[in-house]
Amino acid sequence: GHFLSLSAPSSAEVPRKTEADTSSETVGNPLSKGSAEGLPLLEKAKGYYWYPRNGERILDACGGAGVACIGHARKDVAQAAVAQMKAFSYVSYAHFKTKPVQEVSDWLINSTGGEMQKVYLMCSGSEAVEAALKLSREYFIWKDEPQRVNFIGREESYHGTTIGSLSASGHVVRRGPFEPILVPQFHKISSCNPYRQRRPEEDDEAFATRKAAELEEQFQRLGPDTVAAVIMEPVVGAALGCVPAVPGYLRAMKVVCEKYGALLIFDEVMCGMGRTGVLHAWQHEMVVPDLQTIGKGFAGGYMPASALLVGAKVAELMKREDRTFTHGHTYQNHPVVSATALKVQKIIQEDNLVSNVETAGHTLEQLLHKLLGNHPNVGDIRGRGLFWGIEFVQDKTTKEPFDPALQVAHQVFRTAMRDFRVLVYHGQGCAGGGRGDHIMIMPAYNMPETSILDIVERVACAVEKTFGGS
Ligand code: PMP
Repeated sequence: GHFLSLSAPSSAEVPRKTEADTSSETVGNPLSKGSAEGLPLLEKAKGYYWYPRNGERILDACGGAGVACIGHARKDVAQAAVAQMKAFSYVSYAHFKTKPVQEVSDWLINSTGGEMQKVYLMCSGSEAVEAALKLSREYFIWKDEPQRVNFIGREESYHGTTIGSLSASGHVVRRGPFEPILVPQFHKISSCNPYRQRRPEEDDEAFATRKAAELEEQFQRLGPDTVAAVIMEPVVGAALGCVPAVPGYLRAMKVVCEKYGALLIFDEVMCGMGRTGVLHAWQHEMVVPDLQTIGKGFAGGYMPASALLVGAKVAELMKREDRTFTHGHTYQNHPVVSATALKVQKIIQEDNLVSNVETAGHTLEQLLHKLLGNHPNVGDIRGRGLFWGIEFVQDKTTKEPFDPALQVAHQVFRTAMRDFRVLVYHGQGCAGGGRGDHIMIMPAYNMPETSILDIVERVACAVEKTFGGS
């Protein structure tokens, strides 16, 4: 009986909370999945707010897909982009070296303490992942191990929308129609999802050890010397909703990769670039990957920007043997993208925003537990830094997910936007074949704590209203 408003939504009888709450029809209605028809028309965005055309104001709790990490429409970033556009707006990476590309690449390499030594600048996360997969393959050709044709990814993961990156992904819903044309050399192991997988008697170490044994078994099954790379998100983003690997897990996975000579790829497109309270998610436990992808927060949405960072093992072989990666995009090493990303990174550095993520993240964590932890349909609250997921369940004890047809996460998203004027990211996860609902809270790194409280209050109201306040 606590699910009434899902089957019979009635916004009319709902107490309103936020100040700009005048016309619920003009904003969130109906925000139908997969269709842009019901979406509000955006007029401007500034700081931590979206302003649709009707003069409403929507608090931005997620920066789109965790992208807008320093807020919207900053003049200083715009100036950096325009200055570069005026100097030269485009050049092919095959024809010239440019200063913005060199500067942002050096900046990235320095930010890894020199662990990463080479940078390829691209425009989307999918492109960066695609490049990581292809470079892995080519690396083993250079190493005279051409039999390495297999890849291992994880269930409940998302690495991108192109055929290669989707093949590496375990996101059941997004793979859906393309399943028959995905690349057969991509294999899976389970994700690291303690909420649903950890056995009662298992501590972090035992859980991580069991996961490493599963990876080892997959190597054995495929033939240990046939695997080129293993790819994973250190904190699972869209597929599960901000699920960090348990302590010790990443190291245990790296040990197995090294044992069999395969590369380890960390996809930090969503969890990287400061989002979890360190610049690179691998820096929490200093487990250095061989290849790393970044995106989203890299340019904070001011430009489409991503990168593949290449670690010592691969970079040194390329240098020693003077190898060139057989790969390239028209917009690779784009000067305006690079200048803009560099400016965003300098702001993050100068304003000390990564440590702010850490501090504000603790506040966010406490508030989420306080205001949502006791709700009967909130199964799990997990995350790190300013990267938090809330998973909804029918029953807290059994952890039974909702029927996917109810689109619970979408309902929370819609209620939050329409009735409480806060934008959260929602996802129907891929646990158990497309079941599992979550929303994600990913505020800007410089958001004041009062706004973080505002977010959690509004989200708590939206959850309460969606599930009928049981
Ligand atoms: N990897 C991860 C971890 C992601 O979260 C995403 C996007 N959500 C991608 C790759 C793909 O990035 P894009 O959508 O920019 O192609």
